[in-house]
Amino acid sequence: MAGNWKMYKTPQETAAFFSSFNPMVVGTSNCDVVVFPPTISICSAAEATRSTQIAIGGQNIYWEKEGAFTGETSANMLCAAGATWVLIGHSERRHVVACENDSQVLKKAQAALAAGLKPIICMGEKLEDHKAGKTDEVLIKQFAGGVAGLTEEQFAQVVLAYEPVWAIGTGKVATPEIASASHKLMREEAAKRFGEEASQQVRILYGGSVKPENIAGLMNEVELDGALVGGASLDPESFAALVRGA
Ligand code: PEP
Repeated sequence: MAGNWKMYKTPQETAAFFSSFNPMVVGTSNCDVVVFPPTISICSAAEATRSTQIAIGGQNIYWEKEGAFTGETSANMLCAAGATWVLIGHSERRHVVACENDSQVLKKAQAALAAGLKPIICMGEKLEDHKAGKTDEVLIKQFAGGVAGLTEEQFAQVVLAYEPVWAIGTGKVATPEIASASHKLMREEAAKRFGEEASQQVRILYGGSVKPENIAGLMNEVELDGALVGGASLDPESFAALVRGA
């Protein structure tokens, strides 16, 4: 169960979140829990979760180790701040703030893995592609241009996320059937490139308006291994309810 905080929560607000959230999930061992605060709040989050099972991740990295790249953060820097995971290719980075493309997604995933970070690599179609019946085409292209460039050893370390852009932050959750069909397709692409066993082992999360009220139907689908949650991860009670619902 992964919580993407986007550009919400200062270091102080982060500490306050975890002082409420930690006792609500203490002893919960049904799933891995990882929270992705903004970069400025990673140290605060790592400190607040030090002796818990909750992991912390960054929302983005740059692929170089260091250099003249104003505003960017390297994988090693995230590790030093206490992160162990990183989101790669989130739709807001692909379509809203940075025009990230599939080859950059691949470079970022490779840099994350080289530094020992676990990447969650996000894919998903825009509303116009969804309406035009082009979901499979988009996912196949994103897989081929990004994830397929990893080695088999690297692929064994990653988590994938299916995040239809039309469902992110819109309140329009994909039906379990739609999500399941896309996960199946991504697993088929994985099987073609990395083999059947690797495709069965990779975890694929669904993201897009997941809330405590709709998690059960999604998690009933065998193809869905977890969720990447934006808005509903900002409130300790609703994120704790999602962790329990997983
Ligand atoms: C996300 O940020 O990845 C996301 C799925 O957001 P939301 O849950 O708010 O739709």
